[in-house]
Amino acid sequence: MSPIGIFGGTFDPIHYGHLRSAFELLQALSLSEVRFVPSGDPPHRGHTFASAELRYRMVEAAVSGQAGFVVDDLELRRDGPSYTIDTLSLYRQEHGDSSLCLIVGMDAYRGLTSWHRWDEILDFAHIIIAHRPGWKLPDTGELGKLLAQNGTDDIEKLRTEPCGRVYNHAVTQLEIASTEIRTQIAAGRDPRFLMPDSVRDIIVESGCYLKGESNLISGENYA
Ligand code: ATP
Repeated sequence: MSPIGIFGGTFDPIHYGHLRSAFELLQALSLSEVRFVPSGDPPHRGHTFASAELRYRMVEAAVSGQAGFVVDDLELRRDGPSYTIDTLSLYRQEHGDSSLCLIVGMDAYRGLTSWHRWDEILDFAHIIIAHRPGWKLPDTGELGKLLAQNGTDDIEKLRTEPCGRVYNHAVTQLEIASTEIRTQIAAGRDPRFLMPDSVRDIIVESGCYLKGESNLISGENYA
């Protein structure tokens, strides 16, 4: 059976950096699907900017029509912090011995040791690292060790083994970040071409990244 990709994030908002990376991995690893899992209560962030419902709707709009792309609201339905290990454990219960591939950007991988029960992740899934501009693969410390012990270049192992490998993939480098998108919107600029129009429409309609009445942004700015 083809591996299942699991791509978590705040997606506040989702953008082409997420979508293109996921798409390239879908093809390169012949994943059966990529499940986008918006985080409900992300432990690493003080708060999100758009509500959980809007972030879900934006991901849903972004993946709509793309075969193999699915949005999963399981972390939004769960109370308390959204720990990836809990999500992986549920997927493992559902999918038996299938290969599970947790997709993370390089910046997220570098922060892995701060994740709840991070050292158990490979018991449930492979970790697939997507290159991200400005970030290097760690070669020292616990993450360097994890790579040295569990790293592989062999895609076949990701298909035949259910979990336990770390695989690094050079996706097309798109220097897009949600933080920068929110900053641009707050400065009155249009996020067009950084994300699908369907996502931009939700942002414009909801005004979810506008800051207060005095902000320069209005519907007109988006024409
Ligand atoms: P923020 O700027 O608010 O930190 P973000 O753009 O990093 O947001 P997240 O929702 O936090 O978006 O990211 C979810 C996952 O997608 C993370 O693993 C992150 O590393 C990865 N990711 C985000 N943007 C890119 C990109 N441009 N290229 C590759 N991976 C990315």
